[in-house]
Amino acid sequence: MSKTKKHRKPATRLSHAGRDPGRFHGFVNTPIYRGSTVLYPTFDSLLANDQEYSYGRLGTPTVSALQEALAELEGGHATLLAPSGLTAITTAILSFVASGDHILVSDSVYRPTRRFCDTVLKRLGVTTTYYDPVIGSGIADLMSERTKLVFAESPGSQTFEVQDIPAIAAAAHGAGAEVILDNTWATPLFFKPFDHGVDVVVHAATKYIVGHADAMLGVITMSEASTAPVAKTHDILGLCPGPEDVYLALRGLRTLGVRLRRHQETALALAEWLSQRPEVARVIHPARPDHPGHALWQRDFTGSSGLFAIVLNPASHEALAAMLDGLELFGMGYSWGGYESLILPFDPSGYRSATVWEAEGPALRIHAGLEDIEDLKADLAAGFERLAGAS
Ligand SMILES: *Cc1c(COP(=O)(O)O)cnc(C)c1O
Repeated sequence: MSKTKKHRKPATRLSHAGRDPGRFHGFVNTPIYRGSTVLYPTFDSLLANDQEYSYGRLGTPTVSALQEALAELEGGHATLLAPSGLTAITTAILSFVASGDHILVSDSVYRPTRRFCDTVLKRLGVTTTYYDPVIGSGIADLMSERTKLVFAESPGSQTFEVQDIPAIAAAAHGAGAEVILDNTWATPLFFKPFDHGVDVVVHAATKYIVGHADAMLGVITMSEASTAPVAKTHDILGLCPGPEDVYLALRGLRTLGVRLRRHQETALALAEWLSQRPEVARVIHPARPDHPGHALWQRDFTGSSGLFAIVLNPASHEALAAMLDGLELFGMGYSWGGYESLILPFDPSGYRSATVWEAEGPALRIHAGLEDIEDLKADLAAGFERLAGAS
């Protein structure tokens, strides 16, 4: 890396990382390469396997462009792509475990991560202990010589617990275990995992990196020491995202900075407005001073994205349905990170095992999209009127 490149700020990296127009006749964007077969010019070249690209599954210039950009942004050694966030997670975990091993997984991880541990990993003879996400250095007490990795996600899915990643990483490394972090909420812009002791970072690029709800993609970025085992597993499992989806992630990445700033601003303003509503028992947003993990968030993060939660005061099923069904701007559906606002009822009490979820009433996860804040408030205000009218 050149001297000036090393000191570039994130906004500049978002515009320039992974791009080399000179290689593509001056076109600003790396084109979509489709392909399986890559031809070798000679018999000797084939035997030496001396080409940058050798087979479609193993990489294309489009894939390299995104990998280079993400590795640079996250500050990792290398990046690999997967067809979904979930395959990025399962591949990263599989890279470090064998039969008889033990892993520690945060109780507030994305639920399908948990399902993978409870089914496939269990069948392979790998045992999982779920830990309280706010355990901090106390995680050392849960480790044995069989513990090979600690999986973290901060803030946690749906409930937004902020984890003390440096403390968890120090304890893990003290016991010879790897640390994998799901950094989807913060994106590579708002939390720097490699500065906080993480070995492997995964993202659902499906969310903010793609940013337009039109593609599925996963990302795995490794420290230098963790690159070889992950690259080997990724190669053997044959993960290979579609070229169109990789391109859409590259395209989304260029505007991630401006989009996130707006998601952040709207989410904070909505959270403040919601905190004043009589229907709302509490707001769960790590960037608000009343959040239990706020001090950690302030210490380690440089921003907050557009996803947070609220807990309503007790309400009937019918009242909640009246509120949600009539919303015009907030859509109901899975995923988040696109330009549009979303709202989703959730209740993790049925599947968490190391913590107890207690809520005053129904809980709602909110994704603040890029719409005008006044229109979003009006949509929710009308929803609250329906809620009151039906109770
Ligand atoms: C959505 C999500 C995933 C999974 O990503 P997919 O691309 O849907 O497979 C993983 N982790 C977190 C935190 C997510 O929100």
